[in-house]
Amino acid sequence: MTFVVNTKTKMSHTIEKCNAFALRITNYSNTSQIVNFFSDKFGNVDVIAKGSRSSKSKYQGLLQPLSNYEIVFYKKENTLSLLKEISLNESSLDLFDSLEKSAVAYAGAEIYLQLMFEENDFEKFYNLLQQYLSYLRKIDKNYVLIFWRFFLRVTTYLGFSLKFDKCISCKTDKPEKIYGISFSQNGFVCKDCIKKNNLTNNFKCSQTSINILLSLKNISEKINSIEISKSTLKEINAIFKTYLSYHLHKKIHLRSLEIL
Ligand SMILES: [Zn+2]
Repeated sequence: MTFVVNTKTKMSHTIEKCNAFALRITNYSNTSQIVNFFSDKFGNVDVIAKGSRSSKSKYQGLLQPLSNYEIVFYKKENTLSLLKEISLNESSLDLFDSLEKSAVAYAGAEIYLQLMFEENDFEKFYNLLQQYLSYLRKIDKNYVLIFWRFFLRVTTYLGFSLKFDKCISCKTDKPEKIYGISFSQNGFVCKDCIKKNNLTNNFKCSQTSINILLSLKNISEKINSIEISKSTLKEINAIFKTYLSYHLHKKIHLRSLEIL
């Protein structure tokens, strides 16, 4: 797709090219769109795609959330960049053939839209999102388990990985002794240690949630045999949302998962 750009005013801006996922697409004016991309080279790239919705544009409808593109844009600081050219690398259409898969795929984008990335991390977060979406394409059940695993990898990359193998304090690994998650200690804490150490910022977990969290490490083998009730799903989503909010010191939302 090529956009008409007034080159006279754009001389001072650099032209950049990269691969990027469209995280969010918002209609703007009568014919344009604003696209929040996440790219391998620049992290978040927010652009205006002038005329992309125009009936005259032969690329009308090309922009779809979570599709992967090669983009060329005029990079601007502190304001929207200008999309110049775009070509599709991989369509996201197959991610939207089931409600759960769509919700879970969007949740990945939703997380990225709320994070701040450091320059050194752009490529690894880009690869993580790519791996996540391609894993969703391979399965046909329990997509949310893959989202949770993706979420744990995101927290690891951000430097506060959650550990679920044993109580972070006394190291007991008996699931029935686990109370829940300590946000300040980044992992499971047992009932005894809660009392003994007077730990705060804990999230009490049901036994079912504890068992699912314990199984996330080797989820590939068990993905089809796990049954997740609606209440467990809500509980684990709440745990992760609260955990991320606690560490990032801001309210994180996961609205796409609310329909599940
Ligand atoms: Zn303990």
